[in-house]
Amino acid sequence: MRIGAHVDAADPLAEATSRAAEAAQFFLADPQGWKAPTPRTDADRLRAADIDLYVHAPYVINVATLNNRIRIPSRKLLVSHAAAAAAVNARGLVVHGGHVNAGDDISVGFDNWRKTFAYAAESGGFPLPVLIENTAGGDNACARRLDSLARLWDVIGDYGVGFCLDTCHAHAGGEELLGLVDRVKAITGRIDLVHANNSKDGFGSGRDRHDNLHGGTIESDLLVAVIRAADAPVIVETPGGVDGQGADITFLREQLGGEAASA
Ligand SMILES: [Zn+2]
Repeated sequence: MRIGAHVDAADPLAEATSRAAEAAQFFLADPQGWKAPTPRTDADRLRAADIDLYVHAPYVINVATLNNRIRIPSRKLLVSHAAAAAAVNARGLVVHGGHVNAGDDISVGFDNWRKTFAYAAESGGFPLPVLIENTAGGDNACARRLDSLARLWDVIGDYGVGFCLDTCHAHAGGEELLGLVDRVKAITGRIDLVHANNSKDGFGSGRDRHDNLHGGTIESDLLVAVIRAADAPVIVETPGGVDGQGADITFLREQLGGEAASA
């Protein structure tokens, strides 16, 4: 089981090494902005690295919305990030499930996701796996609760879409962690990546505030059980930089070491 962290984008390999991480996730552009990523000058180093790389798409992307002025640029930004992520040999591009606005029909939101993959397919499809991540909040989200996730997968499942399971988002979003992996896999058939985070907020709070694995409102044993069951690469998106994330990685390695194949 490869274990790593979400790190600063300036030098992801050095950040990973300083945490003794086997994987690194980073942004290719401002996560709150609409700028397309620019080619990385260290692309050759990144491609050659024995550290598994994942790219997180900007938070502003919402391909589900019925608002054209958000949806169309979101689709373009997702495509440009996929190309840039593939250029550094990333193993996946993580993107949030998105939402529709209050009063809008969520089934149109699911179909907008389908159109996104159909749009990409016109030019040969995404060049790397797109991993849709479950989110913590909102009443009209496509991938907060599993009932919505099932409806989403009904319309996009044929496109070979991947899934990223965030433990903080699931707990805060109101999905019980016990048995969650089986319930998710019954829908998606796969979990490609786990975002291993504790939650500062309570079950069903709808808030998205990550905590270190021993902090927060989730029993660390339960976190480990979910991660072990998922049997997928792990990225911690926890606070504390090298020390905080390094301790979380060490803890997971102690708990999971040598048992990755037996989950
Ligand atoms: Zn996450």
